[in-house]
Amino acid sequence: MLLGLLLAVALAFEPPTAPAARVNDYANLLGAAERDRLEQVIAERERATGAQVAIAIFRSLESVQLPGKGAVGGIEELSIWLGERWRIGQKGLDNGVIVVVLLDDRKIRLEVGYGLEGQIPDVVAGRIIADTIAPRFRERRYAAGLEAAVLAIYSRVGDAPNAPVKRGPEVKVTGRGIGLLVVFLVIAVILGMEMSRSRGGRRLLRWWRRVRRRRRERKLVMTTPPRWLTQRLTAEDLDMIAASVTNAEAGTSAEIRVHLEPHVPRAHFRRSLDPLERAREVFASLGMETTRDRNGVLIYIALDDHKFAIFGDEGIHARVGDGYWQAIRDVMRERLRRGATREAIVIAVEELGRALASHFPRRPDDVDELPNRVSVE
Ligand code: CA
Ligand code: CA
Repeated sequence: MLLGLLLAVALAFEPPTAPAARVNDYANLLGAAERDRLEQVIAERERATGAQVAIAIFRSLESVQLPGKGAVGGIEELSIWLGERWRIGQKGLDNGVIVVVLLDDRKIRLEVGYGLEGQIPDVVAGRIIADTIAPRFRERRYAAGLEAAVLAIYSRVGDAPNAPVKRGPEVKVTGRGIGLLVVFLVIAVILGMEMSRSRGGRRLLRWWRRVRRRRRERKLVMTTPPRWLTQRLTAEDLDMIAASVTNAEAGTSAEIRVHLEPHVPRAHFRRSLDPLERAREVFASLGMETTRDRNGVLIYIALDDHKFAIFGDEGIHARVGDGYWQAIRDVMRERLRRGATREAIVIAVEELGRALASHFPRRPDDVDELPNRVSVE
């Protein structure tokens, strides 16, 4: 019983009232090298911009206790508590952001200081979580997700060092002006005192604080990888597929992408879309027709339907014939049939890489025009 009590005490973690570093990994999620790298990236950007970013990673909400308060109600409460005590950012500028992660609860929040609300409004903070952090976290690339988030935050802040707030031009105030100002100030102070004393006033103040708080809330639930995906591919498989794309693109200027979904969606008046039509749709929605040489290739698979298609842009189609696509199709079909999903994709990517390297050899000035990681719908 004593052991049980000790264990319970040991499990509840009290965050410190001041951060010990920029990266505060209370969940032991990151390796030492990853942590050092993140520290370095933040420190560099901090020197250039003056704005500060801190990261706080907790195991779960349940594992945290606030000193003198006990259990925490939600990620908002925890973030606001941290924001108020850690005081990230320069004095008087409030130009700091705390990235709060609750690992097991799959929740992330950006607590943005008032000084940066203009550059990072709710919409932008939400987008950073959904588009930059969540996809990488889903693939368990935590350090990469956090680093990308830091860069995204700083790209909004801009490079100009944050100078102290500029004073406006000096205004000459006449005697009468000052008198009026004093009267206004006295009225404001009396009103303020009255408000905080009366019950209604206190309620009003509380309401105002809640509104301010709500404006700062940026909660976005990280979605777990869907079952249809995890049944066939692990996070490691997805990493390996992304690596095979990177590898294939090392020899060619062309861009390869892999897109997965459970079913080919139904179209109006028809039982379902043809997978090739769907691949064309996805190709466009992923912006794949924007490559300079029109040489993007999409491998599209509807996993639960056992249907797939390979869609190459016009630049490629003009150079390889139908026979080529059919050969790749056969290689993939055989492996998908026996459940070797990762192998089917990796082999197709490798084969595409070989063919593309001969038609579109990589130039020294080549850019990675499209992301290499698997997109999932
Ligand atoms: Ca390229
Ligand atoms: Ca690429």
